[in-house]
Amino acid sequence: MSTLRSDTIPLNRPFRAPGELENLAEVLASGHVHGDGRFTASATAKLKQITSAPHALLTTSCTHALELGTLLLELQPGDEVIVPSFTFPSPATAVALRGATCVFVDIDETTGNIDPAAAAEAITEKTKAIIVMHYGGVAADMGPLLELAEEHCLAIIEDNAHGPGGTWMGRPLGTIGTIGTLSFHDTKNVHAGEGGALLLSDDLLMIRAEIMREKGTDRARFLRGQVDKYGWQDIGSSYLPSDLNAAVLDAQLSAYDEIQANRHRVWNTYARELPAWGQRNDVRSMVVPANREHTAHLYYLRMPSEDVRDEFITHMRDRGVATPFHYVPLDTSPAGLKMGRTPVPCTRAAEFSRTITRLPIWPGMTDDQVARVVDAATDFVA
Ligand SMILES: *Cc1c(COP(=O)(O)O)cnc(C)c1O
Repeated sequence: MSTLRSDTIPLNRPFRAPGELENLAEVLASGHVHGDGRFTASATAKLKQITSAPHALLTTSCTHALELGTLLLELQPGDEVIVPSFTFPSPATAVALRGATCVFVDIDETTGNIDPAAAAEAITEKTKAIIVMHYGGVAADMGPLLELAEEHCLAIIEDNAHGPGGTWMGRPLGTIGTIGTLSFHDTKNVHAGEGGALLLSDDLLMIRAEIMREKGTDRARFLRGQVDKYGWQDIGSSYLPSDLNAAVLDAQLSAYDEIQANRHRVWNTYARELPAWGQRNDVRSMVVPANREHTAHLYYLRMPSEDVRDEFITHMRDRGVATPFHYVPLDTSPAGLKMGRTPVPCTRAAEFSRTITRLPIWPGMTDDQVARVVDAATDFVA
């Protein structure tokens, strides 16, 4: 194995937002460092504006927002939730923690998102919800999924970890289903080191979510002066982030337009420079279907085979460019085999996983760095 070049362009580099150090200093000096302080309120307001969500709650992670989601849906042993095979393990673990069963279904191979036809086939009388992940911030095919939810009285959880700002038919991702979640992990478009958010439209779900986020107490209502003491009201956990995380997030959200413009600059260069080379080499570029705005969270290529993909990753590493693969399918993972059910083998997810490679994309990438990635890629002959 050759060693990694010191000038290697990483896949991602966390954004440094103007004002984040000042915000952190302000929190530490204020004497209010725990959650629900000034920056929790400010970041939440900005997030509601960006997403148009009627309700938003900051959480300690997207994984915890998904856990809050499965608590709100009152999932129990015996219940089934449809989960795409090609996604991060968080939604599956949120279902399994309630003792419910994940039913894994295949993806649409043009986008990597859940295939509505596969979801339809997997519905039984035990199905309670469908989890949708918008891969790369490109909307899943929501039309038929909303019809299924309506017809079978199912909830939809949108795992929108790949960024606020995406839309489907003009509707913001994360606000189309019953529950939306976001991640502010430092590999995501907007970050708080670690963090997340829950997006809701329903007022009653919001009341309960606020209690569940605060260890099952009505502390938030107490802080607003709506009750004169607070106590244990419901099950829940400690999902409220500290105001230090919110202080970083608030600075990041202030720079949201700049972050997105720069990510789109990189994404658009790849989308312009790579398809001609791709066509000559049987390499498929990332597809964004009509009526969707994406978040430029990632740019991926689909190589003709796993062997060619692995050769490409080595070629790029030798040129000083990190181009890792992505999710390992959940249906054939050790925990998926133990805790899930897979009515039809997810062959498209397996193929997607075997052939995908992702190119570096982050707001601070210089035009020279983007050109280096393009030059290295287009020098590769499959
Ligand atoms: C990153 C990610 C998560 C987990 O987010 P955390 O904030 O780290 O918990 C969940 N789902 C998807 C699709 C992700 O990309």
